[in-house]
Amino acid sequence: MSLLYTGKAKSLYTTENPDELLCVFRNDTSAFDGERIEQLDRKGMVNNYFNAFIMQYLDKEGIPNHFIKQQADDASIVRKLNMIPVECVVRNIAAGSLCRRLGVEAGLELNPPTFEFFLKNDALHDPMVNDSLIIAFKWAKEEQIAQMKQYSFAVNEALKKLFSQAGLLLVDFKLEFGEANGKLYLGDEFSPDGCRIWDAQTKKVLDKDRFRKQMGGVVEAYEEVAYRLGVKIPEVA
Ligand code: ADP
Ligand code: UDP
Repeated sequence: MSLLYTGKAKSLYTTENPDELLCVFRNDTSAFDGERIEQLDRKGMVNNYFNAFIMQYLDKEGIPNHFIKQQADDASIVRKLNMIPVECVVRNIAAGSLCRRLGVEAGLELNPPTFEFFLKNDALHDPMVNDSLIIAFKWAKEEQIAQMKQYSFAVNEALKKLFSQAGLLLVDFKLEFGEANGKLYLGDEFSPDGCRIWDAQTKKVLDKDRFRKQMGGVVEAYEEVAYRLGVKIPEVA
């Protein structure tokens, strides 16, 4: 097993199977394109359990993804993908960069939900891109673009329902996709690090905005969401 890639929050290792990787969820938590990084106790474990639960749910909902099995409290085996270097963002409620860019009020309901592509490039602060740029620069093919959009909206429908049953609002989220053997899979992770979740009644923030805005109780909020969704996380690592 050797280290293949260290990202801001996860590390990827090769395994005996050349088609599979070990994905380790670390406690590192970053904001503002990696400008601020802190270690939050238990976060790696909570996100690994959270992600495993969501990926298995999405598989049942017909969305192919890279998750194979959970290997340890803080690590899972995933299918090795050739990642497409764009982030797919779906929004149900206006927040974050949408409000900053367009001057719209935070909390505004977006119906139908919106879709945006961003280039995955911290040095350039993940600029917004579109289909034409993605094709011109060969980041993805036309069919892959269509499939990423279709899967992103399908993830939204599935998770909006799941979260709503737990009294939670899925405000927005970011997905990353990749290809293996000519097939597109959802990769990376789905956890409160990469989405916005509010309590449906109180609108309490239960996601990484607690870290960005230095509100405290970050991992406790992630665990509250996990508990409400029925994700089983051990008390002690
Ligand atoms: P970042 O690169 O944004 O700092 P992470 O710390 O989450 O983020 O690192 C995970 C990296 O692994 C990301 O670059 C992501 O695109 C990549 N990745 C996620 N899933 C897979 C996969 N199944 N195969 C190969 N690379 C993956
Ligand atoms: N997001 C992410 N990684 C990024 C950028 C965004 O996971 O590099 C997530 C973010 O947590 C939020 C959604 O994508 O759930 C939309 O983010 P937005 O464009 O509003 O940017 P931000 O306000 O986070 O700068």
